[in-house]
Amino acid sequence: VTHPFIAAVQAAAPNCRLACDATGMEPFLTDCRGIFRGDALCVASPSTTADVAAVVGAARAHGVAVVPQGGNTGLAGGATPMGRQPQVVLHLGRMRAIRRIDRVGMTLEAEAGCILQSAKEAAQEKGRLLPISFAAEGSATVGGMIATNAGGINALRYGTVRQQVLGLEAVMSDGSVLRAMSGLRKDNSGYDWKHWLIGSEGTLGIVTAAVLRLSPLPTQRHVAFVAVDSPAAALRLLERLQDSVGNALSAFELMSGTSVARVLQHQGGRLPLEQAGAWYVLLELSDQAAAQLGPQLEAELFAAMDAGDARDAAVADNLDQMRQFWALRENITEAERHVGRSFKHDVAVAVSAMPDFIERASAAVTALHADLSLNVFGHLGDGNVHFNVLAPDGLESLGERVHHVVHDVVAACEGSIAAEHGIGQYRVTELQRLKPPQEMAWMARVKRALDPENLLNPGKLLPAEQNHVA
Ligand SMILES: Cc1cc2nc3c(=O)[nH]c(=O)nc-3n(C[C@H](O)[C@H](O)[C@H](O)COP(=O)(O)OP(=O)(O)OC[C@H]3O[C@@H](n4cnc5c(N)ncnc54)[C@H](O)[C@@H]3O)c2cc1C
Repeated sequence: VTHPFIAAVQAAAPNCRLACDATGMEPFLTDCRGIFRGDALCVASPSTTADVAAVVGAARAHGVAVVPQGGNTGLAGGATPMGRQPQVVLHLGRMRAIRRIDRVGMTLEAEAGCILQSAKEAAQEKGRLLPISFAAEGSATVGGMIATNAGGINALRYGTVRQQVLGLEAVMSDGSVLRAMSGLRKDNSGYDWKHWLIGSEGTLGIVTAAVLRLSPLPTQRHVAFVAVDSPAAALRLLERLQDSVGNALSAFELMSGTSVARVLQHQGGRLPLEQAGAWYVLLELSDQAAAQLGPQLEAELFAAMDAGDARDAAVADNLDQMRQFWALRENITEAERHVGRSFKHDVAVAVSAMPDFIERASAAVTALHADLSLNVFGHLGDGNVHFNVLAPDGLESLGERVHHVVHDVVAACEGSIAAEHGIGQYRVTELQRLKPPQEMAWMARVKRALDPENLLNPGKLLPAEQNHVA
């Protein structure tokens, strides 16, 4: 017997593709790390905003929860159904049009299912930069990166996705469509509702299209790989570059020596320095002006070595070398798969507090069990590191205690337990434990106001039951 929700979608949106069989649904029911798995009545793949509205309207009429999904590259289980409630996975992947690029207005309008890499390539063809970069950009979608407010390697210079969103179109929980797609750079005519949806992980509305801010396309790039003794030394190098090259610094990534060694061992590649270091920095400068950035970078690196803030440094000579340097950073997550279970932490603290955080959290993990190892890397310039704890076989059960000790240090440093990957279902309990109750209560009030029936991605970000508290 066909579920009445499915019949309602078929009637209201005949062009919406529906997969209701186990094989068709399979790829959409598990997250990309294979940690979370859920069930659904069907997977709906609409191709227009009107069809998205029809699916949400039918879901509301039949009490079916809606789980939006883009490229399914999220790392917090946010796009995977959970719980026993009947639900539909709303896959936006067919809505992938790039509707318009405005060169002088510096904007790009795209549908939610557009792959980030395609949007970046389209902007580049028009001589413009869409300044959002992360390792999953070949699969992640515009809607997903907005819903998670993705960060990535260029947030240091350009900000997170929130800073790039100038307009939004969304389907709200009652099936209505909100549209603010003129891409205004200034609009103080009331609450800026698009910011409610950015970073809301599909719990407040379904993003169907967006206007994104573009930037001038850099004409020169310089990438350096630097060995440093400690995170504190890395920060001194950062300060030096802030003084000398300022905004041209577009990435400043920290990697522990063991993280890079693991990449070399399992993924291949070559260390571009003569000796291994305790820590490394991968940095990139880019600009479109004619300024002589290359010689300036080399002078700063020599000065940093003279001052004892850097051990050794290599500057990439060509595009191929730049790619090799970046591969050492981008393969870190993949390399940890060879070690065992990874308990992931996506931590933000004040930039200047990062050395203290790393030292205290490392000591806390070692005190918990001597066989746990660390994989520490990330966006030091943004005060964000991925502090992953690797557990060999037999220690998988330590997960909860590991999360507690690391997050307790985050709290002591007044930081955040979700810098860029979000809460999803992975961090709901820890968020509740650590976020001030007043903030949690206000978040629940916002959720109830925008989604009173708790239909949009229930159980993600906020515990399912909290949404119903009067
Ligand atoms: C190798 C790797 C590297 C990564 N590096 C980074 C990084 O450096 N920085 C970073 O921030 N993230 C990173 N991520 C995480 C992930 O790629 C981003 O969160 C990305 O923005 C998710 O996009 P997606 O389309 O895959 O979304 P999905 O995984 O499909 O969904 C993510 C969340 O958004 C919701 N959602 C999806 N589409 C919509 C929509 N149209 N409307 C409303 N809600 C929606 C989902 O319900 C879910 O809660 C990385 C992931 C991988 C696998």
